[in-house]
Amino acid sequence: MQILRTIREMNAWSAAQKRAGHSIGLVPTMGYLHEGHLSLITRAKQEADVVAVSIFVNPTQFAPNEDYASYPRKESEDCALCEKTGADAVFMPTPEEMYPADASTWVEETVLSKGYCGAFRPIHFRGVCTVVAKLFHIVMPDIAVFGQKDFQQVAVLQRIVRDLSFPIRIIRSPIIREADGLAKSSRNTYLTPELRQKALSLSRSLFAAKAAYDAGERSATKLEAAIRAEVEPTGWVLDYATVINAETLEPQEDITEPAAILVAARQSNIRLIDNILLD
Ligand code: AMP
Repeated sequence: MQILRTIREMNAWSAAQKRAGHSIGLVPTMGYLHEGHLSLITRAKQEADVVAVSIFVNPTQFAPNEDYASYPRKESEDCALCEKTGADAVFMPTPEEMYPADASTWVEETVLSKGYCGAFRPIHFRGVCTVVAKLFHIVMPDIAVFGQKDFQQVAVLQRIVRDLSFPIRIIRSPIIREADGLAKSSRNTYLTPELRQKALSLSRSLFAAKAAYDAGERSATKLEAAIRAEVEPTGWVLDYATVINAETLEPQEDITEPAAILVAARQSNIRLIDNILLD
């Protein structure tokens, strides 16, 4: 497995793969890898001849009051995990390599990115779209795999791929959870045992909502109220708990497929997100 730190090296690797007739899969990450990330690498291996994983804590998607500086990092363990999972290359640039000091160009999606997480993190998706567009140019993948864990992010990225004619297929891969239901996340490392226990109310409430949906409940208001009733007494503060159309991301009242429920909750400067498909 190759470890590449500059855009030029990454570009050259991808060009050589293309010359050899190999299709390329890309898995963008911010590192501190867990089984959720590894499942994306495994999926990419199934869809493409060679797989590149990017590990880059992208400063432009964090607001000044957010956790950019404290975001967990463990480069060498991450590389070992990538190799063990079958990645062919890891792209690990510095922020200076990715962003010229006077960079002044952004990629911004203006509809799907505005609600939900976008409403609470106003510059977040502009940073995500810009860095992913750059990674697409640098790695030139045929497919790119993203996690359903960041449901809105996948929808936004599918939109920029369509709108900007990137010749790339986006694949959405399912959420990997801990045995007790908590969605795996690099940010789970911030949780004390007590906060972690209380955070289980998020997945528990989503599973209960899905069970109610499967039993015939079609009122979004009722499902959302049940989620609030489960989560809020634990001290986790919901930014939102919303039933949406899974394609347009519009909020739904009487649920019709395809639908999903998105939740985001905060406590002690920690922000967790989760979601579930209703199908
Ligand atoms: P991150 O490193 O948190 O930026 O995530 C990189 C990629 O991994 C994104 O596409 C995430 O949606 C995906 N991901 C993160 N957590 C999980 C999970 N628990 N299951 C599946 N994919 C995940």
